[in-house]
Amino acid sequence: MTELFRTKLVAVDSRFTTFTSLKTLQVNLGDLCNLSCAHCHHNASPRGVRIMGRDVMNRIVAFLKHNPGLTLDITGGCPEMNLCFRYFVEATAGLAVRRIVRSNLAIALEAGMEWLPDFYREQELVVMASLPCYEADNVERQRGDGVFNRSIEVLRRLNKQGYGRDRELHLVHNPGNGSVAGSRDVLEKHYRTELQQQFGISFNSLHCMNNTPIGRFRDHLERKGTYQHYIEHLAEKFNPEAAEQIMCRTLISVGWDGGLYNCDFNLAAGLPLQRPDGSTVTIDSIAEVTRSGSAIRMAEHCFSCTAGQGSGCGGTALRCDTTIVTAQHSEQSVGACLQQ
Ligand code: SF4
Ligand code: SF4
Repeated sequence: MTELFRTKLVAVDSRFTTFTSLKTLQVNLGDLCNLSCAHCHHNASPRGVRIMGRDVMNRIVAFLKHNPGLTLDITGGCPEMNLCFRYFVEATAGLAVRRIVRSNLAIALEAGMEWLPDFYREQELVVMASLPCYEADNVERQRGDGVFNRSIEVLRRLNKQGYGRDRELHLVHNPGNGSVAGSRDVLEKHYRTELQQQFGISFNSLHCMNNTPIGRFRDHLERKGTYQHYIEHLAEKFNPEAAEQIMCRTLISVGWDGGLYNCDFNLAAGLPLQRPDGSTVTIDSIAEVTRSGSAIRMAEHCFSCTAGQGSGCGGTALRCDTTIVTAQHSEQSVGACLQQ
């Protein structure tokens, strides 16, 4: 299927299998998370052990100092749980044109983490918050009991900080069944209406992601015997327009140990950027993989980036939203988020 993916991309434009220029540095602070969603593609949980330390952070800071004009995209796991999160954010202030933090929202209600909304604002971070649906049941089926109400409470606090008005607050949706994500425009309208009417919450925009079959999500598909079915479904939904938007042409992802990847999905799948001798390229040698025309390491999970409307996320995809899918669920799911 990987070759089929390449063939389909090349048929649209042969340049789509190669890197163009670096616009976004995505940094994964590790696989520690306050949640442990049964389908997380990073297998993140409170037991995460692959956690970025200050030494790697300092190497990233050094790189950013010498390479102004990039977007910095901070992700995890739950990036805020890295004990050096505050240090890293403060150390990168002024070193990127835009700094994004990908948050599961619920973290800001954990004991000792209530400072986060203030800190986001002080640091002028863009918040990209995962909220798989505007309906509690759909969110909690994916993320666990109580997560929806906690997410809503944190969104309220962010709104009080000006997020959704003079500070950017974007929400991220992923479908709750075996389908590709629905129409962004339609879903955004639903999210906006429901969140405003029910909770008085506002946000800037909605990003829609397809579920990427890696990690626990892949394990789940395999247990149910639907992995191949899902990949084929994604392949059938290949959209040439979405192919133009794949983020790996302008983004490099840095793993917890400083190793480089074409994207956070490849990181989760254990597909680092390597030299011919098999050694991994790191943040210290990033120039080796950011030349125009550098090959992108692709796999069959790439079909999730080009299915339907693609996984457009402002050029930066989220790692955080995958959900359980079975052939049965895809037939029977109900709820507006699932029906799009
Ligand atoms: S999964 Fe990664 S490498 Fe594959 S198309 Fe998507 S962004 Fe590119
Ligand atoms: S899906 Fe996101 S919130 Fe859930 S365990 Fe993974 S990183 Fe954490």
